[in-house]
Amino acid sequence: MSPPSAARRSAVESPEDHCELPECQEPAVRHLARSEVRKAFPKLPEEGRRVPLCRAHYKEYKKATKEERTFQRLDW
Ligand SMILES: [Zn+2]
Repeated sequence: MSPPSAARRSAVESPEDHCELPECQEPAVRHLARSEVRKAFPKLPEEGRRVPLCRAHYKEYKKATKEERTFQRLDW
């Protein structure tokens, strides 16, 4: 008799998310809308909806978008 194996499926467990920036392997701390993240990191591929970002790149993203806002504010 073979043991029941149905209970244990080797389906893909939700893998730990990692930062999607190509040169980065850090674990992700935030998931952001791709269209937003691409403003800060235009090299990101367009596919997918959400972008996992590590702490460092999240900071970079925030900095980039903040600068953009500051720019607009200076404009008026
Ligand atoms: Zn990163």
